Amino acid sequence: MDRKLIGVDLGGTTIKFAILTDAGEVQQKWSVETNILDEGSHIVPDIVESINHHIDLYNMNKDQFIGIGMGTPGTVDRENGTVVGAYNLNWKTTQHVKADIEAGTGIKFTMDNDANVAGLGERWKGAGENGTNVSFVTLGTGIGGGLIADGQLLHGIAGAAGEIGHVTVEPNGYLCTCGKRGCLEQYASATGVVHVARDMAEEFSGDSELKRQTDDGQDITSKLVFDLAKSGDTLAVRVVDKVCYYLGLALGNLANTLNPESIVIGGGVSAAGDYLLKQVDHYFQEFAFTTVRNSTSLKLARLGNDAGIIGAASLALSFN
Ligand SMILES: [Zn+2]
Repeated sequence: MDRKLIGVDLGGTTIKFAILTDAGEVQQKWSVETNILDEGSHIVPDIVESINHHIDLYNMNKDQFIGIGMGTPGTVDRENGTVVGAYNLNWKTTQHVKADIEAGTGIKFTMDNDANVAGLGERWKGAGENGTNVSFVTLGTGIGGGLIADGQLLHGIAGAAGEIGHVTVEPNGYLCTCGKRGCLEQYASATGVVHVARDMAEEFSGDSELKRQTDDGQDITSKLVFDLAKSGDTLAVRVVDKVCYYLGLALGNLANTLNPESIVIGGGVSAAGDYLLKQVDHYFQEFAFTTVRNSTSLKLARLGNDAGIIGAASLALSFN
């Protein structure tokens, strides 16, 4: 009998699901909207119902499944199978996710933090090429990370390992949501890029479309900044250079600490592609010391939105 995995990627707007082979090949994929009403109390029942419904729909048998793995926002207690503080899900109190999903589906369940899980996905089937030392950084609205060292996902004593977004890149710099100043997230996330662009526009006096649009009070996005930079806009080029300097600094020091074979860069900002990668790498080379420079390489993520479901499913391989 073919052994299957279920991967679940729980987010604030959608819940993505996939059925995969034990080799990580996605066979079925679907998603439902996340219903965060009533303190998020519908979320776990909705997950249970959706999984049961699709197993029936595909005429599959629960015995076929090695397990369910899930990536979730918030702080995960892996021992107890609970999640706390997932504010975008309206989960303010401790949620007994594992117990409820196992009871509802009859299938073994395990979970981890969403950024860790995306890192596992890129490591297994994406740019990490199943390496034993892979670091993953996601540049989205915020910045998250997942670190795999000597084959193991690092969690740290309080589950905060891999929080690359809060690495200090500018002492006394921008105030971060974590309460600290100068965090990478404030400079190189999608919102960080816009913040840098607005501040640099204020001081810039030359000819620039980015400056015109900023001064006009138009909506600036990180995509616009990168697009204008690619077309040679003087201010946008300087903004991107600054953002890449901070990324190169943070990733250089990450590599000096962990010496992974690759650092995989994903998330919305990474859509800028090789243009971004080349410039981050320029600074990375400057901040990584020789052994690291010669053995750690930067790569763009390959799985896009599927990194979460694939990495989540890989967690369930531990039941094999
Ligand atoms: Zn911070």
